[in-house]
Amino acid sequence: MNYTYNNDDILRKSFSEYLKSKKLRQTTERDAIFAKICQTKNLFTPDTIWKQLEDDHFHVSRASIYNTIVLLLDAKIVVRHQFSSTIIQYELKCIAEQHHYTICTSCNVVSEIKNDKINNHFSGYKISKFASEYYTLYFYGICSKCKYKQMHNIMKTKE
Ligand SMILES: [Zn+2]
Repeated sequence: MNYTYNNDDILRKSFSEYLKSKKLRQTTERDAIFAKICQTKNLFTPDTIWKQLEDDHFHVSRASIYNTIVLLLDAKIVVRHQFSSTIIQYELKCIAEQHHYTICTSCNVVSEIKNDKINNHFSGYKISKFASEYYTLYFYGICSKCKYKQMHNIMKTKE
């Protein structure tokens, strides 16, 4: 599914249906948090969402944001990325399905990559006794900035 702004309606509908099925109330707080997550077309943490809501003068606790994210994970609207033992970020599932990630093991910077070659390679890939829903690839390595710094340091020590 390719992400378009029209998907916001689909997402909103599936979240409403999820809340109904769990007999949970659709509160103003949950709606605001969810709307902000839908607007965020990239990776986020409970903290980044909290800051954006604060900027809008909408005050919620970080715990409320975290709890809403837990619901969205359960509803399969949001996915959780554990890039390393310390880096955990979240993303809308419909966006996560469209790309992969590079993670620099030196500076911990996470970048999204789009690569049709990878997608063509894995589309329709069947795994026995497993119904695959989506996939994400993480490429760990050194980013060009860190590589440059390393080279620079090596040259310095040689002088
Ligand atoms: Zn780096």
